[in-house]
Amino acid sequence: AISIKDLHKRFGAFEVLKGISLEAKKGDVIAIIGGSGSGKSTFLRCVNMLEMPTSGSVAIHGEEIQMKTDGRGGQMPANRRQIERIRSRLGMVFQGFHLWQHMTVLQNVIEAPVQVMGVSRDEAIARAEALLDRVGLKAKRDAYPGFLSGGQQQRAAIARALAVDPHAMLFDEPTSALDPELVGEVLHVIGDLAKEKRTMILVTHEMKFARQVASHVVFLHEGKIAEEGTPEECFGAPKSERLKKFISSIH
Ligand code: ATP
Ligand code: MG
Repeated sequence: AISIKDLHKRFGAFEVLKGISLEAKKGDVIAIIGGSGSGKSTFLRCVNMLEMPTSGSVAIHGEEIQMKTDGRGGQMPANRRQIERIRSRLGMVFQGFHLWQHMTVLQNVIEAPVQVMGVSRDEAIARAEALLDRVGLKAKRDAYPGFLSGGQQQRAAIARALAVDPHAMLFDEPTSALDPELVGEVLHVIGDLAKEKRTMILVTHEMKFARQVASHVVFLHEGKIAEEGTPEECFGAPKSERLKKFISSIH
């Protein structure tokens, strides 16, 4: 579970996030939608502490992340070890895959379990093979990322994220860098994860997909939650003009 309370993030004088509270319970799939610059990526980056919130709290799996003031109006980690430990159990998947290019697909998937979690190599390989099978990449285990299609690379990135047995998965527009014909295979894998009740926060422009898989939809506008609700509420009967406009602008 992920619990976020009154999260603010400022870059200099510019406040990107203006008090976001959000609860993702075990098995929830939270879809975050909103226009470019509304703060979606910044929000996800605050959840996994790639960005330090200016104020507010983040708790992962019941553990609140400890922060202290940095003396410049912001915050810094109070305990780096804690952040590394918590971050190591969040599966992150970004628009641009971010696989290690000098490692094979299998090496990418076993790296964190072996190096960070202390899993034995044999066990990590057995688990990685099962994960690669699940995402349809069994035959590519010894290939280098540069030889894979974008869709294959993103599926490898998902397998890598799953390899740490994550408390939650965070996706930031996982299909927006893909050629249209490769989007479906990646959404299919994410849809399977939703079905098996993985806790997920998913930033996406794929409205149809969000409507199918999300348990809860959050519409961000200028750093605030402008509207939220079930997919039926947000897509079927949006209340605010802003969300109506956004939904009709997407297609
Ligand atoms: P997109 O749909 O284009 O990915 P987004 O909703 O993910 O947009 P963010 O990337 O979170 O938006 O950015 C929100 C705002 O914060 C933007 O105006 C952006 O320019 C600003 N911003 C993001 N990161 C920084 C940074 N490191 N320094 C200064 N401003 C930043
Ligand atoms: Mg973004």
